[in-house]
Amino acid sequence: MKQLAQESLKHFEKIYGYTPHHIIQAPGRVNIIGEHTDYNDGFVLPCAINYGTVIASGRRNDHKVNVAALNFEQQDQFDLRHPITNSATGWANYVRGVFKYIFELYPHIQGMDLTIYGNVPLGSGLSSSAALEVSIATTIKTLYDLSVDPKILAQLCQKAENQFVGMNCGIMDQFISTLGQKDHALLIDCRSLETQSIPIPSELSVVIVNSNVKHGLVDSEYNLRRQQCEEASSILKVSKLRDATLTLLEANKSLMTNVVYRRARHIITENTRTLEAAKALTQNDIQTMGILMAKSHNSMKDDFEITTPAIDILVDIIKTPLGDKGGVRMTGGGFGGCVVALVPNNQVEIIRHAVEQNYYRQTGLKESFYLCHAMNGADIVPI
Ligand code: ADP
Ligand code: MG
Repeated sequence: MKQLAQESLKHFEKIYGYTPHHIIQAPGRVNIIGEHTDYNDGFVLPCAINYGTVIASGRRNDHKVNVAALNFEQQDQFDLRHPITNSATGWANYVRGVFKYIFELYPHIQGMDLTIYGNVPLGSGLSSSAALEVSIATTIKTLYDLSVDPKILAQLCQKAENQFVGMNCGIMDQFISTLGQKDHALLIDCRSLETQSIPIPSELSVVIVNSNVKHGLVDSEYNLRRQQCEEASSILKVSKLRDATLTLLEANKSLMTNVVYRRARHIITENTRTLEAAKALTQNDIQTMGILMAKSHNSMKDDFEITTPAIDILVDIIKTPLGDKGGVRMTGGGFGGCVVALVPNNQVEIIRHAVEQNYYRQTGLKESFYLCHAMNGADIVPI
């Protein structure tokens, strides 16, 4: 992050001709366990990672907002005195959306000059979008000294992504990018929005491997899973699957198709696993954590049917040398994307080697490997 900050500073001075008033970072994230539980009002357990977005900023005396996206070598301008409308440039909408909803609540904020620079791989499921939104929101908050609760700030970022960008995401990404804590994961109750920091044992690294599988059906399959979960909760007469138990599900099995039954079984068992995982990590019980991650993966494979053959192969390749000394599972919405593994620090290179030796040979695909550690959420980077 230091290197990103130095680059941002350098470019800011070159573009705007003065030293920025602040440099802010916000991290990307990975979900350790709790998949598709968010829209069922359940639990998720992500951690912020050491890949993020950095923004250098300076206050202006007028209402102009100048934005330079260094990754894209593009710029955007808008004026806070005029209605903030959608841009034809994709990335600019994440920025404009956050400004729109913060400005509605805090109309006294004035203009600013910004440079954005990030190293979260874009569109890889590590939430570069939340890192961008949260770094913008934290920049505005810091420059204009807004006393706004971090959870409210995260919700404004989610609103920007839902309503301005038009992506129907849950609260997980913005919460963890805002509230992440070094060496901890964050247990989020997606109903009450209560959070609890959960320590990650210091002997474990967070390894993320992108399968680089590209699947065209992600959106339609995601919507279908949401529908199936709603169908199950309506048959079970609960508001969300968070409120259902396995006993209730078994008692109503004959009233639903086998597919809907299995979808509900994944959500109900995944919620339990996520709570148990938070407990296992807190107790430094790595063996139990590994079992829970393996069960989570199998449940996504067999009951929720969101893994792909290449992802299953990748998980198996990592599982073999890892044994019961850590855990591995697919992470994210499914049909491609990343695998997350908790790996003893002294085994990271063994795992990297196993993936390099076997993944391409077995699938014809080349992985991307990210060695991560759980990091703090959005923060000021000292200049
Ligand atoms: P993910 O969040 O999984 O990385 P998304 O599709 O949700 O994928 O968000 C990626 C988009 O977010 C990018 O296409 C771009 O529009 C925007 N974005 C993310 N990081 C940056 C950045 N550093 N600079 C400009 N835009 C960014
Ligand atoms: Mg995103």
